[in-house]
Amino acid sequence: MDISASATTVLEKIERAAERAGRSAEDIMLIAVSKQKPVEMLQAAYDAGLRHFGENRSAEFAEKIAHFESQPDMVWHFIGNLQTRQSKPIAASGDWFHAVDRLKIANRLNNQLEEFGRNLSVFLEINVSGEESKHGFDVSNWEADGAQRDAIASVAATISDLSRIDVCGLMTMAPYGSPESDIRRIFQRTRRLREWLREQVPQASWDGLSMGMTDDYEIAIEEGATQVRVGRALFGQRQY
Ligand SMILES: *Cc1c(COP(=O)(O)O)cnc(C)c1O
Repeated sequence: MDISASATTVLEKIERAAERAGRSAEDIMLIAVSKQKPVEMLQAAYDAGLRHFGENRSAEFAEKIAHFESQPDMVWHFIGNLQTRQSKPIAASGDWFHAVDRLKIANRLNNQLEEFGRNLSVFLEINVSGEESKHGFDVSNWEADGAQRDAIASVAATISDLSRIDVCGLMTMAPYGSPESDIRRIFQRTRRLREWLREQVPQASWDGLSMGMTDDYEIAIEEGATQVRVGRALFGQRQY
């Protein structure tokens, strides 16, 4: 995999998708999802100009951050679901966490962040499709279901009030292999929920929408994504 070439291709596609949506590509953060990939490949992405990296295993996250200590302009995103007992590396050295899916993990991180004297930017992960296999707060029927709406607004407010956690928006994943129209609808519904939460929970910024992966990041950008998490298109297929 020529990572410099694949980075150029992805950045060009981001540029064109932004143009179609009347947006500036500068408002879209490309997160290179480097999970399971060796540090040499991350270095190649760095040399190609990428600065944001995404990982989904706590131990691997810590190891890679330690390895790249001498390149402090790398920005580290934890994008996967986090077990409570594995939260420490994220509190100690993470910059962004994309998958807050329960109050407990937010509380735990907040306590650890307090100890380290750090802050963490987070996205609340939501499950819009109602797929059983998906993590995230269940908002599968939020437009019609007042109780579901109240639940997400309440947990969003509680998490936004934590001293060390900055809630900056919502994260979602579209069902794998769905038709484009379904994927687009998932992203649109995520964006609308974000607008609603902006009014309900004004203490958070709600500027961010973390959505879009290798198969759907261009659609996500057309629908307002500000963070796209791209792995395979940059680094090639993973083993598992
Ligand atoms: C692995 C992963 C990605 C990247 O997926 P690709 O299809 O390789 O682009 C994005 N987001 C999350 C949460 C992931 O786990």
